[in-house]
Amino acid sequence: MLSIDEARAIVLAETGRLGDEPVPLSGALYRVLTRDVVAVGSVPSFDNSAMDGFAVRSGPAQRRLEIVDESRAGAPAHAAVGPGEAIRISTGAMLPTGADAVVQSERADVDRDVVIPLVDVRPGDNVRRVGDDLVAGRVVLEAGRRLGPVEIGSAATAGVGELRCALRPKVSIVSTGDELVDPGDPLGPGQIYESNSLSLAALARHAGAEVTALRRARDTPQAARSAIGAALDEADVVVLTGGVSVGPHDHVKPALEALGVREAFWRVAMRPGRPIWFGARDRTLVFGLPGNPVSAVVTFILFARPAINALQGAQPYPPRGRAVMTHDVDRHPDRDECVRVRIIAGRATSTGPQDSHILSSLLDADGLAIVTRGSGVLAAGDPVEIEAL
Ligand code: AMP
Ligand code: MG
Repeated sequence: MLSIDEARAIVLAETGRLGDEPVPLSGALYRVLTRDVVAVGSVPSFDNSAMDGFAVRSGPAQRRLEIVDESRAGAPAHAAVGPGEAIRISTGAMLPTGADAVVQSERADVDRDVVIPLVDVRPGDNVRRVGDDLVAGRVVLEAGRRLGPVEIGSAATAGVGELRCALRPKVSIVSTGDELVDPGDPLGPGQIYESNSLSLAALARHAGAEVTALRRARDTPQAARSAIGAALDEADVVVLTGGVSVGPHDHVKPALEALGVREAFWRVAMRPGRPIWFGARDRTLVFGLPGNPVSAVVTFILFARPAINALQGAQPYPPRGRAVMTHDVDRHPDRDECVRVRIIAGRATSTGPQDSHILSSLLDADGLAIVTRGSGVLAAGDPVEIEAL
């Protein structure tokens, strides 16, 4: 059976790269840059005040300076600061000609048109210099970077209103199972609330994807086939959950075969998530994820998310970190186990019961500790590889 790394390599080998398009900053959250963002001008673009106060020539305390003008944010002073003079200034306002420092309001006495600094003022005090933040022409954000809130703010600061981003991969989700009911509706005997399509859609959007549809298929061959067929026709990535095992009510694999989806692998030596299925039809990738909610989320993160990232030209997955386990973990004889852990100061602790139906094991988890297969235990104090969530 394939290892996690082998299976992931197969997924990435099948994954192409989408084109790109211009995107206004306001619509760029979670999308991936395809070109470097370069600062149009330096930031700040002019020397300005870091404080509300008085623009002055540096010098000793207790001088009497005549206030000759005002420099406000967006409205620079007309006058220059000459010897024995000061200009009232606001935070962010342009430093007037002739001044080389600002004295804070709180460090000065004002009497009508005269200000007396109460402290010695050194050159550059409370002045923000041109290019402190960004230098004109410098790369602010590199191609391949995902745009989070700070990236979007940085691009705006750099004067860039529109970005070039990868097209959003279209992800279509199909959940299978006769037992599934929409959250909020009453439950009949043996029914459960459907959660996979909602958590997987959220993960997909967070990875920059556009979720085209959430479909529900009952456990019949026809229902599986029609829902999966519709998803294949509209998506770059089809994500199915449930029905990929070999029970009499698992119809996903026969439906995929009938629809001409080529199998690349089925089953990975891991826990949770062993029955994962992966294949492709032309350029459309298909992930058949196990139905158990933890297995669905973990396999999405390990296999589907890297593909969604790679389609956009982003790094498929973060480099694995390391931590030290705070307690023993039994090794599975032939499957690598993805233990949900909380990590504090490099020390990893299991989030509790790890069965694949216990979705709360993912609440508060920072990462997956990859406990490799073998005999005995991974002992408290041993290092373990961590896949960040
Ligand atoms: P399956 O892979 O279809 O055999 O399902 C395995 C387990 O996951 C069963 O307990 C299902 O009830 C549960 N399950 C399957 N699909 C979902 C879903 N979309 N949301 C929540 N639980 C599910
Ligand atoms: Mg099922």
